[in-house]
Parts: sequence; C-alpha cells; structure tokens
Amino acid sequence: MSSITIQKTANPRPRPDQSRLGFGKYFSDHMFIMDYSADKGWHDPRIVPYGPFALEPSAMVFHYAQEIFEGLKAYRRADGGIQLFRPWANIKRMNESCERMCIPRLDEALFLEALDSLVRLDADWVPSAPGTSLYIRPFIIATEPHIGVHASSSYIFCIFTSPVGAYYAEGINPVKIYVETRDVRAVKGGTGHAKTGGNYAATLRAGQLAEKEGFSQVLWLDGVHRKYIEEVGSMNVFFKIGGEVITPPLGGSILPGITRDSCIKILESWNCHAAERLITADELFDAAAAGRLEEAWGSGTAAVISPIGEIVRAGQRETVCGGKIGDLTQRLYDYLTGIQWGKIADPFGWIYRLD
Ligand SMILES: *Cc1c(COP(=O)(O)O)cnc(C)c1O
Repeated sequence: MSSITIQKTANPRPRPDQSRLGFGKYFSDHMFIMDYSADKGWHDPRIVPYGPFALEPSAMVFHYAQEIFEGLKAYRRADGGIQLFRPWANIKRMNESCERMCIPRLDEALFLEALDSLVRLDADWVPSAPGTSLYIRPFIIATEPHIGVHASSSYIFCIFTSPVGAYYAEGINPVKIYVETRDVRAVKGGTGHAKTGGNYAATLRAGQLAEKEGFSQVLWLDGVHRKYIEEVGSMNVFFKIGGEVITPPLGGSILPGITRDSCIKILESWNCHAAERLITADELFDAAAAGRLEEAWGSGTAAVISPIGEIVRAGQRETVCGGKIGDLTQRLYDYLTGIQWGKIADPFGWIYRLD
C-alpha cells in the first residue's frame, strides 16, 4: 500500500490554452511534498494543492544555496496515454546531486511512486497539442533556520509540474551562440556535475549579456585552461566535424545530461560512434573556417535537441551548416522525440508508461 497521502484541491484552476503555453509559466493543481528531519529521516510523503511554502528567513537555502533539482517530462501519446522518459535516470542523478551537496538521499522507489502518483492525479494537465508536454520539476531545499555554514538538518523535497510548449517559441530553428571568455560556469572539484541552483546563478551574467547582443546561449569554456568547450547554455553540446561526432567528456565540471547520454546511445545504435573527447574552441573555429564543421547542437530535456546555426568569438563569426538544421541533428531530434511521444517503438527500455 502506498505511503503517499493525497489531499485534492477544492479549487481546480482553468487549464491554459495549449497554443500559448510557453515554457514554465503555468503550474498544475497539485504538488508532492516530503519532509526531512534528523530524527525522523524523510517522512510524511504527501500530495497537496499547489501553493506557497512558509519558510523562515534564516532557512539555510537562502544563504548557502544548499539546493538541488531535476527536470524531466511527461508526454501525451496519440492514444491518449501518458509516459515518462527515463525517470530512473533522473532519480539516480538526483541522489548523486544529494551526495555532492550533503543532502540525505531519497528512496528511489518512493521517488518514482511520487512522480507516478502526481502525474496521474494531474493527468488532465498533460497537454496533447504537438510539441507540448508536462515538465516535471523535483527539487530539495535546506530549511534549517540557522546562520552558520554547515549542512542543514532539515529539508523539503517537492515535485511540481508545468504544462509547456516548445522551449524555443520559434520552433527548432538553429540558434546563435558566442564563446564566453570572462565567466565560467563550473570547475573540476566544484559542483558542475551536480544539478544545483548555484551553477545557474553563476551563468546569469553571461546569459544576460548574450541575450542583449542577440545570442540565445553562450558556449562555456573550462575554468582552468579557458580553452576546452564544456557546455552550451544549460545544455550539453555535440559537434560533427569531418564526419566525426564529438561531445566533451564528463569530467566533474560538466552536467551528465540524460539527453546527452540518449544521443550517444542512439548514435551508437546507428553505428555512429560519438567520441567523448576534449575539444578546444580553437579546434572548433579552425574546423568551421575550413568548412569541416558540419553540424552542432545542444542537448537537454527542455529543448531536447537545439541546433546551433552560428558560432561567434572575438573577431570570428562562422555559420554552421548554412545556418540550417543538419541532417544528423534532424534525424536525432525526430527519433528521440518520436520515442518520447510514443510515435516510434522504444528499443532502449527508456519509457515508463503510466497506463
Ligand atoms: C540539466 C542540465 C543539462 C541537461 O541534462 P538533461 O538530463 O539532458 O536534461 C545540461 N547542462 C546543465 C548545466 C544542466 O543543468
């Protein structure tokens, strides 16, 4: 029997217009909550109406950023059913983030049950229009009211959901990016491989400037040598150069993306090996100048696959694939989203069906 109690909302809210969902603007009727205290451990798992928390101003998350999160999606199939994409991988990664951030681990079976129960209860918030899905945001915050730097003794684990449209309003048009040379998002030994809010806070300044200059993302370089490419915006990155598919290796400063891993496995199944190797910005721009940079894309749950159409750094501007989406990028996008929306059979065992 489930240990999750359910308190249904007395005031279901109107469903947003599916043609104007945007990304992350609307929130479903319910959320999952569970508390942690030193004496009880994780306890009182429950689903309640979506709404604000009451926290003390001294809650440690506000001061020391002890926080982690995840992001995954529920997809509506053509037959009306609902499915999640690789939820086990998000659950595992959340526990790895817990480890880095000194947060007590979650029970994996209970986490999956929480996802299942919450999405089931708010099933009619899972949109059905093409390209839409229900974004699921699990997170943990440190709640102990205490000024002093140490791991919190109390936490809240919460999951809420948001019906979303395509991440980029323009559709999967190739984006323009530039190489960020002042700020870095992470360094080895830091928290770059954990999904924690602080990593994002560090990226805001560069992101803001990029946007002002008409770019949608920045290309991050490693924090030590300032020459190896790490990620693009908040996505992992892939390049196809002279027939070789390359993605930077996970080395502690890169977030181990589930979409990244899915791309690698799909490519492998197509007999196309993706090399996980270091690549410098010089190599990338030299290849582009020589006409050998065939395709480039970012990968992440929100946008899935985001083709890169132009790369820019001081004094150099290069178009990728004529500013159009490349063949391999398009094929990956179609195949991966096909599996996610249940339009194509899933040979990998990645789909968790809610029915
Ligand atoms: C979440 C995230 C990604 C992508 O991970 P997915 O599991 O594919 O969604 C990439 N980079 C950063 C910094 C992230 O936080």
